[in-house]
Order: sequence, then C-alpha cells, then structure tokens
Amino acid sequence: MEKPVILAVDDEPSVLAAVTRDLRRHYATAYDVERAASGVEALAVLGELKLANRVVALFLVDQRMPEMSGVEFLAQAMELYPEARRVLLTAYADTDAAIQAINEVKLDHYLMKPWHPPDELLYPVLDDLLDDWRANYQPVFEGVRVVGHRWLADGHRVRDFLARNLIPYRWLDIETDLEAPTLRELAGAAAEPLPLVILADGTALSRPTIAALAEKVGLHTHAVAETYDLVVVGTGPAGLAAAVYGASEGLRTLLIEREAPGGQAGTSSRIENYLGFPVGLSGADLTRRAVQQARRFGAEILTPVEAVGLQTQDGYHILTLSDGSKVAAQALIVATGVSYRLLDVPGAERLSGAGLYYGAAMTEALGVQGQDVFVVGAGNSAGQAALHLARYAKSVTLLVRGKSLAESMSQYLIERIDEAENVAVQTGASINALVGEESLEAVAILDSASGAVTEVPARAVFVFIGASPRTDWLKGKLQLDQQGFILSGADLMRQPNRKPDGWLAEREPFWLETSVPGIFVAGDVRRQSTKRIASAVGEGAMAVTLVHQHLRGPAPAQRPAGM
Ligand SMILES: Cc1cc2nc3c(=O)[nH]c(=O)nc-3n(C[C@H](O)[C@H](O)[C@H](O)COP(=O)(O)OP(=O)(O)OC[C@H]3O[C@@H](n4cnc5c(N)ncnc54)[C@H](O)[C@@H]3O)c2cc1C
Repeated sequence: MEKPVILAVDDEPSVLAAVTRDLRRHYATAYDVERAASGVEALAVLGELKLANRVVALFLVDQRMPEMSGVEFLAQAMELYPEARRVLLTAYADTDAAIQAINEVKLDHYLMKPWHPPDELLYPVLDDLLDDWRANYQPVFEGVRVVGHRWLADGHRVRDFLARNLIPYRWLDIETDLEAPTLRELAGAAAEPLPLVILADGTALSRPTIAALAEKVGLHTHAVAETYDLVVVGTGPAGLAAAVYGASEGLRTLLIEREAPGGQAGTSSRIENYLGFPVGLSGADLTRRAVQQARRFGAEILTPVEAVGLQTQDGYHILTLSDGSKVAAQALIVATGVSYRLLDVPGAERLSGAGLYYGAAMTEALGVQGQDVFVVGAGNSAGQAALHLARYAKSVTLLVRGKSLAESMSQYLIERIDEAENVAVQTGASINALVGEESLEAVAILDSASGAVTEVPARAVFVFIGASPRTDWLKGKLQLDQQGFILSGADLMRQPNRKPDGWLAEREPFWLETSVPGIFVAGDVRRQSTKRIASAVGEGAMAVTLVHQHLRGPAPAQRPAGM
C-alpha cells in the first residue's frame, strides 16, 4: 500500500527546500512528502494524486503567494481531500488572515515562520495533527474504479466482467456519487463516453472493449507456447477439474475461457449441494479456489479468449482463437457448458444490461436495494437468484410459466422461498414485453389462464429460462445432436460394433470421447449430461484419465505444419 502524502506549498524556493527537507527528515518512513511552488501547481499535483487513488494527510501551505494565496488554495484542496489536516505558514503580518482562515477553510493550525528548531516548533504540532488524522482515516479502496450510471448497458458489461473475473472494483454512480464527476474531470474525460474505468495507477479508459480492459488489468490473453499436451476449452467446473487433474498428472495444460472462470457455477450466489461444503459456498469462492489449485499445478489460463475454430491435422488438434492466433494440442477437452437462453419479447434487446439481466444476480444485487424486482424462471438457478436478491430488494416476484415450482426446483429452495417474506411466486405467468427507452420502466405480464396482460412498474428483471450449448463453431467437426449437444462414447455407436462415421482410430471411442479420436467432452455440453456441478467436476476428472489412455496409443505423426 502506498504511503499517505504530506504536501508542502511555498513560492520561495529556499523556504520550500527547507520545509521539504525538514518534513522528509522526520516523516519519510510513514509519509511521502511532495512539494509545489504555487497554489496552481499544487492543485495540479492534487489532481494527479486523486486520479492515482492516493491519500493526502496534511497540507503545509504558505499564505503569501502570488496568483493564489494559501487560504484560497486550501479552499479548493478541501474539495478533493476534505479529511486532510490544514496548516498555514504565516509571517507576523498575516496573522489576521490566518485567524480568519480558521473558520473559512477550517484551518487546523497556523505556524509562524521561521519554524526552527523544528523539534520544538514544527514536529510536535504536526505529529499531533497526523495522529488525529490517522485515528479517523479510512484506508482507500486500491483497485479499479468504474464511473458510470446505473442504466448503462456498457457499464453493466464492464462490472460483470470485472466481478466474474474476481477483480475487485469500486462502482461510482455519476448521478449519486459526489466523487464521480470530479474523477471524470480529473481524468480529462468529461466529454468522453461512460463508463470510465480508472486503473490503480490512474490510467483512465473510456468505454473500453473487454479485450482492452483484460489486457490492462493484467489478465493472461496470449498462450505462452504453440503446442500443449492438453488444451481444455471452457473453465466451468468441468474444465477447471480437467485442468487440476491434467496439470497435476504432468500434462502441459492450457485452459481457454471466453468470459470468466467459473462458468455457470461462478454466477451462483450459494451452492448448497456440493459435496464437502455443508453450509454451502458461493460460486465465486468455488471458482477462486479451483483457479488457484489449477494454477498451483502449473495450468495456464487464457481469459477472455474464445475458441472459434477447430481443425485436426497429423494427430494434433488445432484451435483458432478469437484474436486469430492458433494453438495445438495432442488432446483436447471441450467443456464449454451451456449459455443462458435469451428472452424473446419486444424491448428485450434494447434493455439488455439496462434493467434486463441474464444471470448477473451477483453483480446487480446491490443496485436493486429498496426496489421491486422480477426473476423469470423456475429452476434452481432462478430460486437461488430470487433468495439472493431478496436480501437487497424490497420485493422479489418469481414469474413461473408452469403451475408450480415442484417439477423443476429442489425442495430445499422451495421451502426457503415459502419462508422468505419479500419473495412472491406468480405461477402461470410470463413476460410479454419490456417497457422503457433508456432503462426498464415496466414489464407486461401475461396470465396464461385468463389471457390478460398487466403492465407492472419494474426497474430490474433477472432471467433464468434455461440454457443451450453454443457449439456452432464445432458443427461439421464433431457429431452434435439437434440442440447442439456433443455426442460421445456409446452415443456415437449407432449400431453395435460399428464405429462412428469418419472415426480414424483402430479402437472404439472411449466413454467421453467425441467423434474425433483425442477430443473429449465433459460437463453440461455433453449430450444427456446431468447438469450439476459435481457431475461436471467428475466428468472433467474422468476425461483426463481417458486422455492418458489416448496418449498411450500411437503418437501423432509429426508436428502440425505452419505452427
Ligand atoms: C445460477 C446458477 C446456479 C447453479 N447452482 C447449482 C447448484 O447449486 N448445484 C449444482 O450442482 N449445479 C448448479 N448449477 C448448474 C451448474 O452450475 C452447471 O451444471 C455447471 O456449471 C456445468 O459446468 P460446465 O463446466 O460443464 O459448464 P459451464 O459452467 O457452463 O462452463 C462452461 C464455460 O465454457 C466457456 N465457453 C463456452 N464456449 C467457449 C468457447 N468457444 N471458448 C472458450 N470458452 C468457452 C463459458 O464461458 C463457460 O465459462 C447452477 C447453474 C446456474 C446458472
């Protein structure tokens, strides 16, 4: 953590040098002593400090300076650092101004020049003020700051990305947070589009792309090598488990993730049925632990990078990544899970991120404080989200298309929902349209029994209406079912003892092996998988065992050409 700052301001070079020397001699271990030769220069220094998220503990300022007096400077400095202690350096003739300043700029002390010997005249006074400052000082948040307004879809995108990648950030709403407009101005971005992302070193990015943001916050986006023993696509529970087992068993392992580690499980507010965690744990916790574990064994994780193409050549599987680069693997595990299905009603596209959210109950929960919100869906993910949002929102209404939750939600969640005073369940109901231009204002709800449509005010709707695999990039490469789930093992053997079309190996496909030898599938993206964290983890681990069996077979003929 960087030290707090003491700022000395004086227009006379010899006095400034002397006061800086004395301050550094006594305070350098605990404070950074900065200096400025005028009030204007000092304000510029303060702007830079604010942008870099530094704190100022004390101002020691000469009263008599041309252009801007000490008191005039302090009046402006207070707006940026209201908590800093304020000391004026005065000559005898300035005593009146100093006394007046006690009220005007809440002056803490005025010191007569000269202050020698400092051990008697300077340090005791400043020690006292700095002790006082420390006692009331709240350490600043040191991570990324995001300035935006609540209904900005790009703002939601940036916050969701940071949260899901476990990067701490502070959100500053331009309409309600007093510091937000100042920071925007100091960054020279008053006219630039929001959101504004201010990094720990003070660098500001206006409406950054996710790729640019990922680079700047230090995420790993380029593979170190061209060829790996094992490449895993997707870092949900299945992919992370595969990486832990692969890397720990000596395979050079690369993981590729399009959005953020954790997959669907990473968005869960509370997982209560995962073995070994009797009181449950959040998806973010599970993800943090699994990522740490995979890295500890040496797995490399690229994020956010999407696998967009696949080609098999000379026994190597070559992936094309979203940045155009390629990476080759002796064995590949596809663990790309499923993605939320989108709501297909008028207004949905326009209001996505501006009141309509897919998943995102964790990112947006604080923003719904005191509001009436809706959750659409009847599965466990909808139930978890409703209970999590109920801790912040005034009321949560769960809109369920069917007659009850019993067919689709676990009993423990149904009981919790019954007990929650501010959660209501509306069955036979679905959303017909979303109303609002810039942000969501109301939802039109269709009652399936009566056919009536009612418009109800709403500021936020969270959608959990099932999910589908996004495997378009694998069409024609691997055998998929009609919904896009990947076929493997016995599913590929249409007739007993008849190998799948195009199958090139002597042996039959292993259990989790796809229609291409050496390419395996694990987790929710597999046809007829269980759609549970534990099953995904089990399949990830099992796939690695099968990878070893595959690698013990005939070796690839040669390195792929052009790599
Ligand atoms: C809100 C919520 C709560 C849940 N709660 C529970 C629970 O309490 N208990 C339970 O057992 N189950 C729960 N589930 C279900 C569980 O999370 C899933 O079954 C599990 O996450 C599936 O894991 P997976 O690794 O197969 O896929 P996913 O978790 O879907 O992960 C797949 C990953 O692959 C990435 N990806 C996709 N395509 C590409 C590509 N082309 N290139 C790079 N990366 C790609 C995705 O971005 C994603 O991160 C919940 C699900 C949700 C949504």
